[in-house]
Amino acid sequence: MKVLVIEDNRDIAANIADYLEPKGHVLDFATHGQQGLQLAISQRYDVIVLDIGLPGLSGMELCRRLRLDARIYTPVLMLTARDQLDDKLEGFQAGADDYLVKPFSVKELEARLEALIKRGDIKAANRVLSIAGLEYDPETLHASRDNQLLELNPIQRKILELLMQNANRVVSREELEEHIWGDALPDNDVLRTHIYSLRSVVDKPFDKKLIHTVHGAGYRLAETL
Ligand code: CA
Repeated sequence: MKVLVIEDNRDIAANIADYLEPKGHVLDFATHGQQGLQLAISQRYDVIVLDIGLPGLSGMELCRRLRLDARIYTPVLMLTARDQLDDKLEGFQAGADDYLVKPFSVKELEARLEALIKRGDIKAANRVLSIAGLEYDPETLHASRDNQLLELNPIQRKILELLMQNANRVVSREELEEHIWGDALPDNDVLRTHIYSLRSVVDKPFDKKLIHTVHGAGYRLAETL
């Protein structure tokens, strides 16, 4: 799993890294609230570990901004000190999904993170994605733009789903290819062809283009460039 750890206590962060990294998990770290928020918005993570007491921006405020402003629903596990237990409710209100009281065992942390990712996948699968008049329902597979039904094939749907889940962010070719084909990667030009055909359905009949190519990086679905 890809984890963002936002924690200003270096011992705790190192403890988490020492346990999770040898198991093949990929970790990014932030020690400052603003820096953590920035990473949480610009990069894709499976789950976020968030300390409440942070310099710059508190964990509560960070979580609120992530959910309400950035509309990013990556699962968040909050870390709280024992005497901050009252913060638990506030944390859930701010959009956290779970919490752990310090000191905690990293083994339990890992189990909680894995459970959160599973729950998050189920929630995400049931959420209708929507941006700039474009809607996609991952459950019914209905896609529409400005209330006009869009006819998509299964690969186009998968591309659209990942781009919409990551609206406003750049999704790399590698991420898209892995999402569509898993380990059975086709040759390079195939993705381009599918993006072209997706554009012809999603963008071509409409005034405003939503699928943007970011040269050398990937694709971004956004209202503006
Ligand atoms: Ca702290």
